[in-house]
Amino acid sequence: MADARRMVIVGAGQAGGRAAEALRDLGWAGQVLLIGAEPLAPYHRPPLSKSVLSGERTVADGALFAPSFFTEKEIELRLATTVAEIRRREREILLGDGTRLGYHSLLLATGAEPKRLGLPGAEAARVCYLRTAGDALALSAGLGPGRHVLVVGGGFIGAEAAASAVARGSRVTLVEPADRLMARGVPRLIAERMAARHRAAGVDLRLATGIASLSAEGGITRVELSDGTHLAVDLVLAGIGVAPRTALAAAAGLRIDNGIATDRRLRTEDPNIYAAGDACAFPHDLFGIRLRLESWKNAEHQGRLAAQNMLGHREACLAVPWFWSDQYELTIQVTGLPDLRAESIERHLGEDALLIFHLARDGRIVGASGIGPSDAIGRDIRLAQMMIERRLHPDPGALADPSVRLRAMLTTKAA
Ligand code: FAD
Repeated sequence: MADARRMVIVGAGQAGGRAAEALRDLGWAGQVLLIGAEPLAPYHRPPLSKSVLSGERTVADGALFAPSFFTEKEIELRLATTVAEIRRREREILLGDGTRLGYHSLLLATGAEPKRLGLPGAEAARVCYLRTAGDALALSAGLGPGRHVLVVGGGFIGAEAAASAVARGSRVTLVEPADRLMARGVPRLIAERMAARHRAAGVDLRLATGIASLSAEGGITRVELSDGTHLAVDLVLAGIGVAPRTALAAAAGLRIDNGIATDRRLRTEDPNIYAAGDACAFPHDLFGIRLRLESWKNAEHQGRLAAQNMLGHREACLAVPWFWSDQYELTIQVTGLPDLRAESIERHLGEDALLIFHLARDGRIVGASGIGPSDAIGRDIRLAQMMIERRLHPDPGALADPSVRLRAMLTTKAA
């Protein structure tokens, strides 16, 4: 039966953890129950493919909270526990072991899971994926000098893992079916700069190439590439994208639309159920479309926002998207929605840094992407984010000219 004193959060990841924290900070005096399928308390995932894989940091370094946090805040954390069913009429959830728990409001922060390589032989070859701390530790154990790693997929995860594997002294081959890296996330010019950096680091980068077959032989995986090349590798990592975890919501009859569909306040069509983070598909007023974001900043923001709205606030999710990726000494940052562009304007900041601004057909700035050392592009990307937020129509000539300060353009008139 419904329990008016209990807020339940399904998914003890980043969005779920932030929501639990915010419920307390905003004064909820009833019970806060945070349930997670993984055995670890919430942690940051970005270091997994970067400093954890390269051996510079441990998983524990990336914990979201100090160990005493849950006791101090009186948040009940149930780990290694799966929520099996939502009974909306009764306003209760069912755990894997059959326990029934009522809720006042429920937050679905179930995240996303890696798409699997649907190739014959992938299972026998024990293809690795990278989403959890457990995945990162298993993968890390297979890296090192003398080890040949095949990375399948040149998206952010594959490209970051390749850089980290190189840092560990592994030999790396990366195959990507598209003719460029990070095709879904960054403009071609930025992808080409990063591809050159990978090649300089010794990565055997094979673009426009797929996998024809995989087979396991002892500890070795034999791979045939689509161009006929044969490789023998010690480890295969597939980074071919993620799918939102929607099964629980779908089974409860909630609408799914490339994620758990919510309104602009992150509420599903059930007034007592909210969604946040990688699993959530929400309408964004600034862009006029439904979005699902897979990013650290979004999980931070939506976790808190959902908690606020579970407590009766009516705040819309309006934050401008922002994403970063670190590979070697370079960082890539993307803000807004570059995909909506009609025109792109380059701003060259010396030899090693580049910004690209993305303008819609009417000249409004809708996105910005950059590559370089983070101190070279971080501030300008933040300024671009403010321009996007303010719906500005900056002068393209000024955007292209590095001698014109972006801050000065913040006063440009909005539409
Ligand atoms: P998650 O963190 O995935 O948490 C969801 C949790 O819900 C999981 O622990 C899952 O086990 C649990 N769960 C699901 N279903 C149930 C159930 N039925 N019962 C109980 N528990 C359940 N973003 C960036 O912006 N920059 C980066 O550089 C970057 N690097 C990344 C590197 C890696 C390796 C990964 C994996 C992600 C990276 N991200 C990055 C993305 C970012 O980490 C995610 O967007 C963020 O973690 C999403 O948080 P979330 O809470 O929505 O989902």
